[in-house]
Amino acid sequence: PQLANQIAAGEVVERPASVVKELVENSLDAGATEIRVDIEKGGARRIRIRDNGSGIPKEELTLALSRHATSKISSLDDLEAILSLGFRGEALASISSVSRLRLTSRTAEQEEAWQAFCEGRDMQVMLEPAAHPQGTTVDVEDLFFNTPARRKFLRTEKTEFGHIDEVVRRIALARPDVAVILTHNQQVVRHYPAEAASHQDKRLHQVAGRRFADDAIFLEHEEAPLSLRGWVAPPDACRHQSDIQYMYVNGRMMRDKLLNHAIRQAYGDALPADRQPTFILYLNLPAKDVDVNVHPAKHEVRFHFARQIHDFVLAALKRVLLASMP
Ligand code: ADP
Ligand code: MG
Repeated sequence: PQLANQIAAGEVVERPASVVKELVENSLDAGATEIRVDIEKGGARRIRIRDNGSGIPKEELTLALSRHATSKISSLDDLEAILSLGFRGEALASISSVSRLRLTSRTAEQEEAWQAFCEGRDMQVMLEPAAHPQGTTVDVEDLFFNTPARRKFLRTEKTEFGHIDEVVRRIALARPDVAVILTHNQQVVRHYPAEAASHQDKRLHQVAGRRFADDAIFLEHEEAPLSLRGWVAPPDACRHQSDIQYMYVNGRMMRDKLLNHAIRQAYGDALPADRQPTFILYLNLPAKDVDVNVHPAKHEVRFHFARQIHDFVLAALKRVLLASMP
């Protein structure tokens, strides 16, 4: 199983930031309202994610570390309409095959916490009692220690941490209701307090910056069952190289050619060719109309009614952009 897991890890675990993404998504799926991300040495030394979610029952800890074990879907029908961020049951098995991983967890019903870790080539899982409040901590040490070729490809501490910071920003924008703390080498780098539904602009300010927040036009457009809301910058506020291009489909951050095309087209000639559209958009549609099981890292989707989605996004943006122009 070790080899199969390491092969899967090649697809899911590209670098420390991909570990952070998978683990934080697990915390969100577990209903956490507070997530702490502790990083050492750009993630090469340590990646530790602690959450206050549902926790994993003692008898499921071993299973959680094994391949294709997911508690989130149980049938092909579920796969047709995925609501959780995870569903492949690969992340924990993959990550544990290329690191020293400890999984500590306590459910609300349990009196004590338990800790699981893998030992040796045959991935034998050991269980020990531990101290932990309700929730889960995944502690990943020495990523790629046993795959030297991949370890060699890690960039500088600063670069790898930059990628992690970006993953945390994306997630922070997706879930303003969840508190997120990010530390690097024992220093707090980001602290996003949980925002009430009525104060989600605060998260926007904190993550995207005052400049974007001040310039951007708010948009909300619905044509059941499709809805789009978020912010776009008017053409003259778009930058040459924008780092603010965030598109969420049913809460999942995406980069999608079709959607990018619709957004670019909505600006039309008003946006000079050397500028990039700047936007934070949340598209929601019925889960059954979008296939998220396209890529192991889950950052691609396939729309069943692609043309309709494209035109919906185009029309929604055109409306607000035209109104904003003199
Ligand atoms: P997936 O997310 O695709 O189901 P993972 O390998 O990421 O697969 O996780 C395996 C299983 O472990 C999950 O289905 C879930 O039951 C459990 N799990 C992982 N992380 C957490 C967490 N932070 N809180 C609660 N349960 C978790
Ligand atoms: Mg997962």
